[in-house]
Amino acid sequence: MANLKWKTPRSKTRSRRAANWKLGAVTTVQCPQCHQPKRPHFACANCGTYNGRQVVKVQDEPAG
Ligand SMILES: [Zn+2]
Repeated sequence: MANLKWKTPRSKTRSRRAANWKLGAVTTVQCPQCHQPKRPHFACANCGTYNGRQVVKVQDEPAG
């Protein structure tokens, strides 16, 4: 393999490695029951339903 003429500068290496560390925004869809945003393929955090049936007990008001 041919030799590289210049080594990759430290700044370029570090910049490349730093480009992928941030987390993106969480994808949400609207809950068909309560119309609150929820994560797709997850039970709704607000009403506790998934696919039209209750799968998680819902507390009235989370303490704290
Ligand atoms: Zn819901």
